[in-house]
Amino acid sequence: MRLGEVAELDSFRAEVREFLAAEAPSIPERAGFRSPEDAAEDKVRREWRAKLFEAGYLGADWPERFGGGTREWNPVLDLIVSEEVARAGLPPLTDQTHLAAFALLRFGTPEQQERFLPAIREGRETWCQLFSEPDAGSDLAAMRTVAAPLKGGGYRVDGQKVWSSNAAWAEFGFLLARTDTAAERHRGISAFIVPMSAAGLEIRPLREITGTEDFSEVFMEGVELGPDALLGGREDGWRVAMESLGAERAGLGAGGRRLRKLLDSMVELAREEGADGARPADSEEVRDRIAGFAAEIEINNLLVQQRLARELRGAERPSDLPIGKLVFSELNLAMVEYGMRLQGSRSLLTEGDPEARQSGRWQDEYLYARTFTVAGGASEIMRNIVAERALGMPREKRGG
Ligand SMILES: Cc1cc2nc3c(=O)[nH]c(=O)nc-3n(C[C@H](O)[C@H](O)[C@H](O)COP(=O)(O)OP(=O)(O)OC[C@H]3O[C@@H](n4cnc5c(N)ncnc54)[C@H](O)[C@@H]3O)c2cc1C
Repeated sequence: MRLGEVAELDSFRAEVREFLAAEAPSIPERAGFRSPEDAAEDKVRREWRAKLFEAGYLGADWPERFGGGTREWNPVLDLIVSEEVARAGLPPLTDQTHLAAFALLRFGTPEQQERFLPAIREGRETWCQLFSEPDAGSDLAAMRTVAAPLKGGGYRVDGQKVWSSNAAWAEFGFLLARTDTAAERHRGISAFIVPMSAAGLEIRPLREITGTEDFSEVFMEGVELGPDALLGGREDGWRVAMESLGAERAGLGAGGRRLRKLLDSMVELAREEGADGARPADSEEVRDRIAGFAAEIEINNLLVQQRLARELRGAERPSDLPIGKLVFSELNLAMVEYGMRLQGSRSLLTEGDPEARQSGRWQDEYLYARTFTVAGGASEIMRNIVAERALGMPREKRGG
């Protein structure tokens, strides 16, 4: 199917929408990538993931022996599914489990694929991503966690990870650690599969400003891994990690759809009388600003379509991802800040307060919005990449 075959795309979209309306569970709508609130929600989410796989809305591009190939697949279909999932207010699909599955498919041994992929499909196991450390976030290659090779084979892991989304619920972690401490920065890094229940591994959930615990600190002291825990080649972890981050592409459509939902809510908000009895929509400044957001959302969507069209032609540009991420995350932030302003003093109310507009959804979006400008590469880093790779400006000095 090509991008231009609109009728087929429309009927696929209608099919997905119908499926979601009939089958999607009730999961509280929250901003961004969030962990389950409790064990019951974790169970519902796992079952939901399994259902999406079964229907071929996830994993259609997997090899047939792992349940893929049930429908013709191309990235445009992924875009439609992720848009519809966002429209329905369901958790995004390109989470850490998705990323790990992508890494296993691309770099896993046949034994690793046999062992882990069916469990992911069936929602029996979820994963977290153990990359960032207290002093290695934007500069990931500065990581210090060590996986020291043991004499009889296998590794001993010591170190600390942080901001590990979903770690408190995950069965396995996709870990990056240094196997060669003498090698230069990213050259000494390997990727591993680590059971989150391993002896010596401790998970400490972090409560965030949103009031929820979406990520954790993970401490590892003398965690022993077998030789079969290595994912990809030894000291090839940087490539495994970087190529796996490409899995996030599958979620491309979600951002634009989220922004559209925010815009609709904002229009509704502007039409309501505020605490002072005035209606924001009567103000010219408010109408200007909201119309401006509508235009910027169109720009965001066009960028997504352009990027996808280039991907289909195999002509992606290194600036596609950073520009797309910058535009989405900065626009999202500006919109939620404005949504809060529109509410005047009511913006101080939170979820559950009967006076809070739209059930406090704006407050949750506001408290979460900064994370989009940090996670997966901060805005400053995105601008650096655009400056260096797209505009040919001098490279910044790194690594002290
Ligand atoms: C919601 C969320 C979920 C996450 N989930 C995970 C996860 O599951 N697994 C995982 O491993 N990590 C995860 N992360 C971590 C994420 O990858 C890091 O937060 C990110 O890489 C930034 O690193 P840092 O937080 O250490 O900030 P820092 O790198 O310390 O950056 C702090 C500030 O300095 C700026 N800065 C840093 N370097 C430069 C530079 N060279 N030039 C200009 N400005 C610079 C940054 O842009 C930023 O504004 C998550 C983060 C968030 C917010």
